[in-house]
Amino acid sequence: MLTHTGRGLQNPHMHLVIVGAGIAGLSAALYARLYGFETTIYEELAPGGRCLETVHAKYFPGLPSNEKAVTVSERLESQVRESGAELRNERVLQVSSREPDSADGPAVSIRTENGETFADACIIAVGDDRKPAGIPGEDEYTGRGLSYCATCDGPLFRGRDVCVIGGGDSACDEAIFLSEICSTVHLLCRTEELTALPALRTELSSRDNIRLYPGAQVSGLDGSVTDMGFRVLNTVHFRSGGTETSLAVAAAFVFVGRRGIAASIAPDLTADADGRLHTDRHMRTSGTMIYAVGSARSNPIPQFVVAAADGVVAVKDLYDRMYADT
Ligand SMILES: Cc1cc2nc3c(=O)[nH]c(=O)nc-3n(C[C@H](O)[C@H](O)[C@H](O)COP(=O)(O)OP(=O)(O)OC[C@H]3O[C@@H](n4cnc5c(N)ncnc54)[C@H](O)[C@@H]3O)c2cc1C
Repeated sequence: MLTHTGRGLQNPHMHLVIVGAGIAGLSAALYARLYGFETTIYEELAPGGRCLETVHAKYFPGLPSNEKAVTVSERLESQVRESGAELRNERVLQVSSREPDSADGPAVSIRTENGETFADACIIAVGDDRKPAGIPGEDEYTGRGLSYCATCDGPLFRGRDVCVIGGGDSACDEAIFLSEICSTVHLLCRTEELTALPALRTELSSRDNIRLYPGAQVSGLDGSVTDMGFRVLNTVHFRSGGTETSLAVAAAFVFVGRRGIAASIAPDLTADADGRLHTDRHMRTSGTMIYAVGSARSNPIPQFVVAAADGVVAVKDLYDRMYADT
């Protein structure tokens, strides 16, 4: 183990813990192994992160735009496993820097659902979470016609009319995906203009079965009771220009932005109001030997390529610190 005394990092056998095995965490792990760090990744679900929730990994330089996101993450996971990094299926509850008077031990404490472990450095790569839309009835209909994942649930509504709520990149991207399997996709956008990338807006306007409703404020949801005895969504109500309208749909997909979760597992570190950790340009957080990368950090550019690059930047900084101080 390394020490974190004033003498700096003395031992090249660095043990690095990475929390989260999305694109950012897996990329960090791959480079950590290149730099020779003993590397353990903790992932609470399955490796891949958001890659498991989206169809194509678009805008990844060098990859075709129809490359399946799950294929990219599976390939990366194999590379990471082959590199010798250890992947543990375990939820991390808290990451914190140890007190300076514990200077003889490793710098970071990682508390998981199975106990406490220590590392010389930690990279937090936990991504972020969906934001609820705040629509009356949202909780009641979640999983009963209201979904936050078109890739997961879209195929259940093949050939039927659905609606998408949102107007950014994810909403437009998922509306385009749904237009390939559903009959009509109603896109309800709160603002007068879509905020998605120009390329996505162009693609969207070329789809005959996507109907855009700018300035549409969703005001409520309705449903009916099935033979099985539970209520499922069948109507979305919205207000636009002072007029109330109701749409009969088989499902509604919500994409109204995302919020950080990293601050909840690292409450001692400085974070923005959205729950993402502040970092400098080396991805260092305010905690000793703790980094944050990808969607876990403040002001992320929400793209796979940036998440991957963040992981590499953090590992290179760690390596430079190790040798600069000896
Ligand atoms: C619908 C949608 C479509 C998108 N499409 C594209 C696209 O086509 N191209 C593109 O470039 N970008 C796209 N993005 C953005 C892209 O998904 C993100 O930029 C990227 O996933 C960020 O990677 P990450 O590794 O930081 O986080 P994530 O992918 O969110 O990975 C975080 C991982 O950490 C794990 N984790 C969380 N908390 C804990 C914990 N306490 N303990 C252990 N593990 C934990 C999670 O289970 C997850 O596996 C899309 C995003 C969305 C929402």
